[in-house]
Amino acid sequence: MKRICVIGMGYVGMTTAACFSDLGNRVVGLDIDVEKLEKLSKGLIPIYEPGLEELIKRNRQAGRLTFTDNYDEGVGSADFVFVAVDSPSGPEGEADMTAVRSAAASVAHALESYKIIINKSTVPIGTGDLVTGIVERENPQAEFSVVSNPEFLREGSAIQDFMHPDRVVLGSVDRSAAERVAELYAPLNSNVIITDLRSAEMIKYASNAFLATRISFINEIASVCEKLGADIKEVVRGMGTDRRIGSYFLDAGVGYGGSCFPKDVKALAHMAAVHGCHPQLLRAVMDINQDQRKVVVQRLREVLGPLEGKIIGLLGLSFKPDTDDMRGAASVEIIHLLQHEGARLRAYDPAAAEVAAKLVPKVMLCPDPYSVAMGSDALVIVTEWNEFKQLDKIRIKQLLRQPVLIDGRNIYEPTEMRNLGFEYFGIGRGNTR
Ligand code: NAD
Repeated sequence: MKRICVIGMGYVGMTTAACFSDLGNRVVGLDIDVEKLEKLSKGLIPIYEPGLEELIKRNRQAGRLTFTDNYDEGVGSADFVFVAVDSPSGPEGEADMTAVRSAAASVAHALESYKIIINKSTVPIGTGDLVTGIVERENPQAEFSVVSNPEFLREGSAIQDFMHPDRVVLGSVDRSAAERVAELYAPLNSNVIITDLRSAEMIKYASNAFLATRISFINEIASVCEKLGADIKEVVRGMGTDRRIGSYFLDAGVGYGGSCFPKDVKALAHMAAVHGCHPQLLRAVMDINQDQRKVVVQRLREVLGPLEGKIIGLLGLSFKPDTDDMRGAASVEIIHLLQHEGARLRAYDPAAAEVAAKLVPKVMLCPDPYSVAMGSDALVIVTEWNEFKQLDKIRIKQLLRQPVLIDGRNIYEPTEMRNLGFEYFGIGRGNTR
């Protein structure tokens, strides 16, 4: 049984704490948000993540998982200190390091014996050295090693991804510290890659940027398909079977979102530019992604005319299915664009209603897809939740004021929808009017 402290009880920190405790370790989850900790101590989790609540409950009951806001208590009782605080976008697109710096300083003050500080937050290349500098400055007597251990989990399947990772990346100037962290992951039988600190930090950015690039690439091809009458789904079917290409992250739609891809691509482009590189591909990836939000609005304008006073129904608000996270969600940008044109909006999301009520307060939130459709001039699929795939389409059509359906995630078949009498538009499906 190893003693672990995880700092930052967000999507990543909570999953890390819950999974490491489930692997038999003694884990303390630490956060500065006392309200969040109160919920966690009652066995409630403040986010929607399948399976996480049960996992936390089980390990709390077994006495392996506790929570605190006290650094002396959390760090003092641990040999391994994971930092999983937020690193959002700053005003220039750079990663805002406020939380990471603050956590590093607090850890430094609580260090009384040798610890391994492991950075799980996605942070700019060089942060390992920055954290080392902060700890040395704040506590010159401290004995510690710093390891970078970027996280690759996806919200919605966080536990599965943590427990069955494609690889575990560990970077450090102290190889023996990295090897000790590798032992924590030994029960997962995963491929462990031990490398230097900066390469480990870059692996995370390069991976996210590459996946975002695939999405923007296929969206660009989708725009061409639309003009030339090809169907992007068929094109991907043909491309994806090539083992050199594969079919993952080749879904055309309203673009990528979430708390990671948008900010990480931006931060990498910023880092590159500051260091004298010309990140033209990354910039194109971001531009294309922005354009994808506009495709929906343009299409609605083409079909309905001026959008002033029109009622538009949105299905799905979270940035992807199986999460309530709306950070960087396509829905938010689409909502703002439509509101700017004077449209009135109603929406349904299976998990994100509470988040949406605060984030987009002028959108009328409905209890199900049918109430969204009732009296709307058009319906837009924004997030591909499973429950939208089997809707009673005839009922939806009857409830709509006009049978206009913009399928921003290509979940339906154009021929079927048109046969049912919808004015149906997917993304890149050769369906110009
Ligand atoms: P989050 O915003 O959900 O949670 C961050 C938590 O850190 C919050 O609870 C906040 O109160 C806490 N915190 C902030 N400053 C603190 C401090 N000084 N001391 C203690 N706690 C503090 O963030 P997240 O989505 O879990 O992401 C965390 C990091 O992991 C980010 O760098 C992110 O880029 C990266 N990441 C996220 C995902 C994901 O899917 N969410 C996946 C991989 C990597």
